[in-house]
Amino acid sequence: MSVLVVGTVAFDSIETPSGSAERILGGSASYFALGASYFAPVRMVGVIGQDFPQDYLDLFTQRGIDIAGIKREAGDTFHWRGRYHEDINQRDTIELHLNVLAGFQPKLPEAYRDSEYVFLGNIDPVIQMDVVEQMRHMKLLALDTMDYWIGASLDTLKKVLQRVEMLVLNDSEARLLSGYDNIVKAARAILRMGPKMVLIKRGEYGVLQFSDSSVFATPAYPLEEVFDPTGAGDSFAGGLMGQLARTGDLTQGSLRRAIVYGSVVASFTVEDFGVKRLAALSLPEIEERYQRFVELTDFHS
Ligand code: AMP
Repeated sequence: MSVLVVGTVAFDSIETPSGSAERILGGSASYFALGASYFAPVRMVGVIGQDFPQDYLDLFTQRGIDIAGIKREAGDTFHWRGRYHEDINQRDTIELHLNVLAGFQPKLPEAYRDSEYVFLGNIDPVIQMDVVEQMRHMKLLALDTMDYWIGASLDTLKKVLQRVEMLVLNDSEARLLSGYDNIVKAARAILRMGPKMVLIKRGEYGVLQFSDSSVFATPAYPLEEVFDPTGAGDSFAGGLMGQLARTGDLTQGSLRRAIVYGSVVASFTVEDFGVKRLAALSLPEIEERYQRFVELTDFHS
């Protein structure tokens, strides 16, 4: 089963306590697609500018990712500049240039419209809605967003939320969207906005999953060094959706396993700058760390 993602394809300039990098490949769709590509065929929808190098596109195709939905427009590629604090869970956006993203109207290739697993990655909710309206019969529709869009486009975001099954967002964004400080209250309030399930990412503290009938908590894989947390959230979602598409199983047990696969993929992403580690993984490596994760959280035996 194919997974379709819409999101940003970006140049990222990043500063972390471990170092810095200028104009490297980034964007929510890029991290998601690379993460999902170890599990299932992936189709990308996004926009790039004239300045976007062919090498980066080749990286996607080498991973078997279908990039027919990436459009090159006149102008510059979306550029994000971020700086992480000593406390690596905190980051500031220093610059954000939408460039070709402003006014982008995706036109999905015909074959993409039948994708069953669809991820609306972090991007303008207007674009997310545009994609939803072009889809024919989805099995699972999930969405990610961030503070910028909660601030800039809340009304449209709320409309999209009424259409999705699963919302993935981090704890500060859940507080911002719901108006509640307490994370359980925030999750309950978000569930009332439409999604049947909400996954709250808490950086190095792991993930909480809420639905009306269940709560599931998992830690993040403990690492001695986090080089660059950028893309952890998007590659988490990629591993999660990829694993769900690989099995076609949307029962609660399968969802829980997929959350752990997502956490494993994210743990690799943060081990190096940008997509470096994420793009050079293998499924056996992922499976091995998944087993370690199972042992890490086992308190029955
Ligand atoms: P994450 O660390 O998983 O939350 O996502 C980081 C990625 O989000 C970076 O690669 C950025 O290019 C991208 N990004 C940053 N700001 C935005 C935004 N406002 N909309 C969409 N993508 C963004």
